[in-house]
Amino acid sequence: MIIMIKKHLFVTLGITAASLFALSISNHSAPQAHAAANLTYGKITNNSLHRLGTIRQLTRAQLAADHKLTGKQVQQLVYLPLPKRLTAHNFTLSKKALTIHLVKNSYGVKNVAIPLSKLTGIILNRYMPAKYDFVKPKTPNKVVSMTFDDGPDPTLTPKLLKILKHYNVPATFFEVGSSVIRYPSISRMVLKYGNQIGNHSWNHPDLTSLSSTRALHQIALTDAAIYKATGTIPAYVRPPYGSVNSRIGNLYDRPIVRWNVDSRDWAYLNTPKTVQHVLATTHPGSIILMHDIHPTLVAAVPQIIRSLKKRGYTFVTLPTLMQKPLLANLQYFGRGDFRGF
Ligand SMILES: [Zn+2]
Repeated sequence: MIIMIKKHLFVTLGITAASLFALSISNHSAPQAHAAANLTYGKITNNSLHRLGTIRQLTRAQLAADHKLTGKQVQQLVYLPLPKRLTAHNFTLSKKALTIHLVKNSYGVKNVAIPLSKLTGIILNRYMPAKYDFVKPKTPNKVVSMTFDDGPDPTLTPKLLKILKHYNVPATFFEVGSSVIRYPSISRMVLKYGNQIGNHSWNHPDLTSLSSTRALHQIALTDAAIYKATGTIPAYVRPPYGSVNSRIGNLYDRPIVRWNVDSRDWAYLNTPKTVQHVLATTHPGSIILMHDIHPTLVAAVPQIIRSLKKRGYTFVTLPTLMQKPLLANLQYFGRGDFRGF
């Protein structure tokens, strides 16, 4: 016990001395000046549980990126003990990374270093080197973000990817895990073409009708499938049918991406009607919901893109649309419209 206290004191004093030195040679608020200033997650996130949740998920994603994990290990990431309280301080902040010091765990990993480039807008600017400062992007008012659910489809998704590339339009694909294991090369192609992948559950149940354990399993299995296919864990979740409540919304430490324009492609199964409906309901800042499993929708996409471009719209990614990083356990409907649970 005494040894432990001494060791702790020694470490604390050691860091404090280093930081005082850093302070004395630095004339502005450099991050090393904060290294030992009793930083907590509360301080570096402006007391935001959403930002802390985002840091937890970034820790899981970084651990998975740094170590080759089995499917089972990816599924278990959700149970990795990570800080829940803003008063926690199990981290070190350097000029390059936020390093999370883990408690003993089944992965045998002690530290996870998240590059600061991934933390812009999540850690307050004053704790970051200037080059990582968050500045609200000045994007035009007329922006939209396209999202495609329920794939990957072996023929329609590649066809759609070529269309999007032709028009230089980025999109987010919310994929179903049970299809990802059948067509992993299509998921890789989605990323290779410059798009993003989100998690749309394993086999498309209404998550609110499931127990929390089963709902977690739906997302964890899909994470594992997407990780096996692409080496990355999806940053976003979209619950099937947009069906979500506070219990489900707070389970995943991830942003919940919803929409404010439903193409109703699944109801029309008709290209001109789908085009007409999207054009009639899209407005500046819309997130548009479509499905890359209907040939009629894929056929509608070139017309939708051309018409919206003609009306002055720019197609952007979700963070550009929202003008900030998307945070855990918030739901996003469109520009300026995000909510808690
Ligand atoms: Zn769906």
